[in-house]
Amino acid sequence: MPSIQINDNEYVKLSSFLEPLSIKPVYNRVLHKISFNNSKDIFILSPISDAVAIDGNVLMFEKPLVVNKGVIYVSRAAAISLATKLPYTIKKRTVMIDPGHGGSGDDGLGAKAEFNDKTIYEKNITLSFAKKLGELLQNNGYIVSYTRTNDKKIPLAERTSTANNDGTNIFISIHANSSIDPMARGADVFYMSEEAEDAYAEIVAKKENTLLANNKNRKDVDSVLSSIMTSGHIKESARLAYNISSRIPVKMVNRGVKKAPFAVLHSAYMPSVLIEVGFMSNTNDLSDMLNEEWIEKMAKNISKGINLYFINSKEE
Ligand SMILES: [Zn+2]
Repeated sequence: MPSIQINDNEYVKLSSFLEPLSIKPVYNRVLHKISFNNSKDIFILSPISDAVAIDGNVLMFEKPLVVNKGVIYVSRAAAISLATKLPYTIKKRTVMIDPGHGGSGDDGLGAKAEFNDKTIYEKNITLSFAKKLGELLQNNGYIVSYTRTNDKKIPLAERTSTANNDGTNIFISIHANSSIDPMARGADVFYMSEEAEDAYAEIVAKKENTLLANNKNRKDVDSVLSSIMTSGHIKESARLAYNISSRIPVKMVNRGVKKAPFAVLHSAYMPSVLIEVGFMSNTNDLSDMLNEEWIEKMAKNISKGINLYFINSKEE
């Protein structure tokens, strides 16, 4: 059975998965219908409707197909539904999202800040952001899993062990930054390296590493950090970080890509990044991170960056 990669941004060429099976779609311009069959079912698609009839059963898709210069495109979600009806094994892209912190104690709560007389904890910001990002990726055909979906304390090693066992393609850890400088703001994308890029990257990594690990586990973290890393993952992690960062617009205060020794990324045996989506110590950033519209916008940019990473990936 041939396997296919569906990793386009939003639309996929219909021919890209029909051609290898020698299936030719027929476009009827008068009836605005596209039809093909796989010797078992008859598929009927239309560019003016988001419905697909498969042997008389109607499937609804989020987006109708598009015909551009004679080439037929279907949405990613539609492509996956269609291909499951064809003799293919679909290789879906899997993403593990890690909402930073969770539970009680300093490492559980993460950074904190006051907003409208309420104390806001980093653990809640990271969870709502992670869920939105996951939802967007899922709509794009990705398989998404989370290290936590509620306010639970997750030991450092557990955060990546599931991802390592599941054959997850990439690992994305979500955090919110804080600084003694109340003017500091914006989003940073970090990838793992033995040495911090600069003094700032070192401070962020130290802060997150201390918050992520219980003090009694401190020794474990240090020993993990000092072990040898595989350079292949670092290279791919850097590429993932740059692809994500490339989609964060300047006006959303893109602080760029940096490398730093993050404990949580160290034990991930796959390309992984840690994103500090904004600064809790900056009033503008904090109100943004609590605003659903902003969350959706930023999560959309990051999901586009993840798409870009996979599009630019060499086929395995
Ligand atoms: Zn954090």
